[in-house]
Amino acid sequence: MSNNYDVIVIGGGSIGVPTALFLTLEGQKVLVVESSSSVGQGQNKAALGGIRATHSDPAKILICQESLRIFSEWEQTHGQNIGWKKGGYCFPAYRTHEENILKSLLPIQKSFGLNIDWLDADGIREVVPGIQHEGLIGGTFSPDDGQASPLLAIDAMFRVSRERGCIYRFRERVVELLIEGNRVKGIRTEKDTYYTPVVVNAAGASAKGMGKLAGLDIPVTPDSHEAGISAPIEQFLGPLVVDLRPGPERKTSNFYFVQNNKGAVIFCYTPSKPFLGTNREPTSEFLPIVARRMVNLLPRLKNMLIRRVWRGLYPMTPDGLPICDCVHEIEGLYLAVGMCGQGFMIGPGIGRNMMNLILYGAPVMEQKIFDTLSFYRDFYGSKKEALK
Ligand SMILES: Cc1cc2nc3c(=O)[nH]c(=O)nc-3n(C[C@H](O)[C@H](O)[C@H](O)COP(=O)(O)OP(=O)(O)OC[C@H]3O[C@@H](n4cnc5c(N)ncnc54)[C@H](O)[C@@H]3O)c2cc1C
Repeated sequence: MSNNYDVIVIGGGSIGVPTALFLTLEGQKVLVVESSSSVGQGQNKAALGGIRATHSDPAKILICQESLRIFSEWEQTHGQNIGWKKGGYCFPAYRTHEENILKSLLPIQKSFGLNIDWLDADGIREVVPGIQHEGLIGGTFSPDDGQASPLLAIDAMFRVSRERGCIYRFRERVVELLIEGNRVKGIRTEKDTYYTPVVVNAAGASAKGMGKLAGLDIPVTPDSHEAGISAPIEQFLGPLVVDLRPGPERKTSNFYFVQNNKGAVIFCYTPSKPFLGTNREPTSEFLPIVARRMVNLLPRLKNMLIRRVWRGLYPMTPDGLPICDCVHEIEGLYLAVGMCGQGFMIGPGIGRNMMNLILYGAPVMEQKIFDTLSFYRDFYGSKKEALK
């Protein structure tokens, strides 16, 4: 087979695979180059699998509305079970601080037609049976959000794209971008050279290094987050629950957990000071801290058996928003990077928008809103999003 492609995607992760899928479905000859031995082995498999459209940023809202549609209809459309569970998201509030934040987001969320409401304490207790009732003021609940298995979902998208002709090269690290004048010509890996007029950088936590190959400074810095999973227990919990309060031990800010469609509870917290870098060794402090927080919030979890913990990376941008753009200085080079803590849920929505941008010159969503994800925006002047 010749080494010429319409599009080459660097990275077979949460973003690269759906982007390749939608390009392939439009009849493009697509190559995905992935340094690991299969798809999803970067940060995709570290994700809990939460999927919500109820953000506060318009671009994320529109992208995730698209993603939710794709994830929720996947099994019906393609016949593969991706672990989809429409349980919603619930943000309980125990202090007026969180109550005010959550209530202040409702107008923008409702203006995009999102199904989310403020519930009083009794309403939250119905949605999260057994939740600590002392001090509970109420909270938001968005029943149309949900979750899926990141590995099942990426494998499903990989299979459909491959059946339609997408080519994957595993265990090949991209080491050079071939650029002539101001145009992309292809890529070189440790094993081979491939030619194309269009390259998409979807290299996740390595996006910055990939950018350097083209002389670009891409502001993506990984920081690490830990997570864990329990043995399956009887289904009792619908939504993914996010407690926005800082932890009493001051080492953590918010924490969140969800029961997947097999009954396992998956959980994670956000360290109050980011752990910068690419270290993926689990720490000994994560489990005691997160277990205490979970049992305080939901005492019925006290006898839950924990199966394993892991640590993965959020590819962060300074303002917490992804970078989805074409590079003005190098024709044919596109960026779909900086997905922070939400790359799994925004993957399919980003994939469709990147496909349209590459093939038809404009995203699927409103251009003005998509432009807020520009590589050329002011990363340091803009306000941080209220909810990560
Ligand atoms: C603990 C934890 C929980 C999370 N929970 C959620 C969640 O509930 N919902 C959610 O939406 N997100 C969640 N995330 C975030 C999500 O996992 C990431 O945002 C997302 O996986 C990033 O997608 P990506 O495609 O940019 O990167 P990746 O999925 O890491 O894909 C990038 C790929 O590029 C490959 N690559 C890199 N460099 C090269 C190279 N030179 N040559 C070839 N290949 C290369 C890598 O091997 C990798 O496979 C969580 C993350 C963590 C750590």
